[in-house]
Amino acid sequence: MSCYCGSLETYEACCEKVHKNIANAKTAEQLMRSRYSAFVLANGDYLMASHHSKTRKPKEKKAIVNWAKSVQWIKLEVKETTKGLENDHEGTVTFNAYFFEHGKVEVIHEKSAFVKENNLWMYLGLNK
Ligand SMILES: [Zn+2]
Repeated sequence: MSCYCGSLETYEACCEKVHKNIANAKTAEQLMRSRYSAFVLANGDYLMASHHSKTRKPKEKKAIVNWAKSVQWIKLEVKETTKGLENDHEGTVTFNAYFFEHGKVEVIHEKSAFVKENNLWMYLGLNK
């Protein structure tokens, strides 16, 4: 079975490595993919840990986990990336995340901003 994020790797060879040690996210896209997989797995601790401290909202963790469990995740499509490579300090990832909610297919289309904090890729929020 391929990873939840839709890569050709297994979960163990892909997002699980990042879930176990966030330093394994070498690019903003890898971190973004690991966050999608964490939504599929309703891994609230990882969703908080991969969020930049400036924009992290620990009080929302429970609501995020409950929501992530309440929908059925379908797939992730990474559409475009800017910078976000190993030697960059910021970057964006534009993606579509598909899921079933209340019997309907829904899609989150987002251009996300990522920056490094303490040399680790972190999710900052919507790119504005
Ligand atoms: Zn993955």
